[in-house]
Amino acid sequence: MQIGNRFTSILLSIVILSLLLSCSPEEEKADLILVNGNIITVDDQLPEAQAIAVKEDKILAVGNNEEIKKFAGDNTQTINLAGKLVIPGFIESHAHFIGLGKSLINLDLKSANNWDEIIAMVSLAAQNTSPGEWIVGRGWHQEKLDPPPFPNVEGYPLHNVLSQVSPFNPVMLSHASGHAVFANKRAMNLAGIDTSTKDPAGGRIVRDSLKNAIGVFEEEAEMLIYNEYKKHIDKKSEAELKNDKLAAIKLAVQECLENGITTVHDAGAYFNEVNLFKELADNNELGVRLYVMLGENYSSLVSNGKNYLLNGYGGNFLTVRAIKKYVDGALGSRGAWMLQPYNDLPGHSGLNVTTLEELENTANYAKENGFQLCIHAIGDRGNREALNIYERVLGESSAEYRWRIEHAQHLASVDVTRFSKLGIIAAMQGVHCTSDAVFVVKRLGEERAKRGAYVWRKLIESGALICNGTDAPVESVNTIKNYYSTVTRELNDGTAFYPEQKMTRMEALKSYTINGAYAAFEENIKGSITPGKLADFVVLSQNILTVPDEEILNTKIEKTIIGGKVVYTK
Ligand SMILES: [Zn+2]
Repeated sequence: MQIGNRFTSILLSIVILSLLLSCSPEEEKADLILVNGNIITVDDQLPEAQAIAVKEDKILAVGNNEEIKKFAGDNTQTINLAGKLVIPGFIESHAHFIGLGKSLINLDLKSANNWDEIIAMVSLAAQNTSPGEWIVGRGWHQEKLDPPPFPNVEGYPLHNVLSQVSPFNPVMLSHASGHAVFANKRAMNLAGIDTSTKDPAGGRIVRDSLKNAIGVFEEEAEMLIYNEYKKHIDKKSEAELKNDKLAAIKLAVQECLENGITTVHDAGAYFNEVNLFKELADNNELGVRLYVMLGENYSSLVSNGKNYLLNGYGGNFLTVRAIKKYVDGALGSRGAWMLQPYNDLPGHSGLNVTTLEELENTANYAKENGFQLCIHAIGDRGNREALNIYERVLGESSAEYRWRIEHAQHLASVDVTRFSKLGIIAAMQGVHCTSDAVFVVKRLGEERAKRGAYVWRKLIESGALICNGTDAPVESVNTIKNYYSTVTRELNDGTAFYPEQKMTRMEALKSYTINGAYAAFEENIKGSITPGKLADFVVLSQNILTVPDEEILNTKIEKTIIGGKVVYTK
């Protein structure tokens, strides 16, 4: 009997156990598990782990191999990470999404070493383009041309040779900063530019000593050329235009996935572009998650902005709840609005490109209608004016609004601590620091550069939050290159730009993940590998937190996973 009893009790235990196992609800089984990884979660509750379980588009559990293997069922896909690094998907906090796609279609001038190479690229394009069609490119920078252009005006090349190789095609080449264009004679003729054309407010037509336009149109003056280009584009049919944009979006998505980016903050989209994103999200075709800042002007925002508010649309692929404005231009084109004149252009302190009145009106509109405001500010004057507006409009509770300053590049010492005091987010770009470094001291002088240029450490130590990005297509959207710039501030020639201001590896990782999520009110669903959050990760070939500095650039993106789906494999 005793044996029988024991037998019965063992049998009973087995029955209960198997009942328990089979009763474990079906949702406890994962769709995907990743095991044998070196997982950096960016979550203080469990900073490191070996394995992750994913159910549908969310993270089910994080832990060691044994804990996670329990979630494997008959239909679970398993990925063996073989010791590779897994981090949360990169959040690109400032890029121009459709612009990135277009840059992959148009002439990419970033790789041209000098003006002759640019002329050769345009010449080739002109031979392959029908007369009248525009040739468009982006990415030249006079300071990076080697040898420097000769003849030149203020370092800029002149249009003559470029115009000779493209007599029948208007040419518009955007500056790397996006804050100036270079036009050939054909484009200037279309725009009716001559010695008597006046500089528009907030812009400048660069001229030689005889008052002839040399081809460069800075800041608002860009519009003189751009409007002609737009007239040409406007002749295209709706369907042609839509197809152009869809093609650009497709390329932008692919470029992001190849770089381990799972969310992009689009720094300025028009209503019709949001419509397109929405259409794609409806069909599960967006491909990468977007957090959109509306780039419309004040009056269109007032009449239509609220209709475009979207939160977590299409399975958390599309959120629209921010507005993008510009207070000034860029440093390279001397458009950044400075408190004191430029060192290399005495008497000139940069440009205010949107009136402070319009900015303040927009701020009030944003506050009343549930929009976050993101103001582009590069110069110390631009930053101060933006902070002043935020402080005036938001008052005591400013931190709740999480408003942002895009770039926050050059700061007066007294303004550095205002970011944390007011709870204003500094949306900065690591790679801007290293790629602008060659002309920062020239423009600002040693003292101003040392004190206030890209002062990441000062901002972090004062308690401010920095989110990171590349401003693509101004820079390449390359995450590894940007991470490297952020943690080394090292230039191509091996020197470092005020390295005392660099971020630690972990600070840089946070700036590129959880801080980006916070800067979009999305820290509850993104930015760390935490149960319940969206299953967005990236698998890297090596540990970017521990490899020597010079090894970082050799890191490869192995896999990008969005919502539990592997969307890119090397
Ligand atoms: Zn930008």
